[in-house]
Amino acid sequence: MTKPSKKVVFIDRDGVINVDLWKYVETWKEFKFEKGVLDALLTLTEKGFDIYIISNQAGVGDGIFTEAAMWQVHEKMVAVMAKKGIKIRGARFCTHGKKERCECRKPKTLLLEKAVAGITFDRKKTFFVGDKLSDLEAGINFGVRTLLVRTGYGAETEKKLGKKFRPDHIVDNLKDAVPIIVKAAA
Ligand SMILES: [Mg+2]
Ligand SMILES: [Zn+2]
Repeated sequence: MTKPSKKVVFIDRDGVINVDLWKYVETWKEFKFEKGVLDALLTLTEKGFDIYIISNQAGVGDGIFTEAAMWQVHEKMVAVMAKKGIKIRGARFCTHGKKERCECRKPKTLLLEKAVAGITFDRKKTFFVGDKLSDLEAGINFGVRTLLVRTGYGAETEKKLGKKFRPDHIVDNLKDAVPIIVKAAA
């Protein structure tokens, strides 16, 4: 028997879920949700999406903050979300330094592959939502649709878009992305 197909969405963290500080978010104090994000994630949860956070955190590998600190921020974030009824199915971080040439740092796709290993879903109905070119490129490399938000680096990214990495959609923020994500999965 074939496994039922899941509704999946991949979301970058910094600059999409939380306000990008133009530096690493090292502590929970520095973590601030982007406007409308909790409502957006709640809608996705209620619509039955498996939400995966896919994030490069090279600050760990580059010695700027510890992996424990990174997970602490994550746990606090997930706790706030859980209180609202939001369910995050998984989170994958690349903690390698920028110069380590690892196999998982976006635009590479190992984080995405690991996140959905063994899960049946339709890549053509699935979005990667991000604010950087490396997010769009990772999505394209993984064969899913891409959605650029203008929060975080997104407005800058929009100016740099070439033909090669055109996202399927560009919207102001995650909240505006939700109807597109929902419609594509229907
Ligand atoms: Mg980002
Ligand atoms: Zn890595």
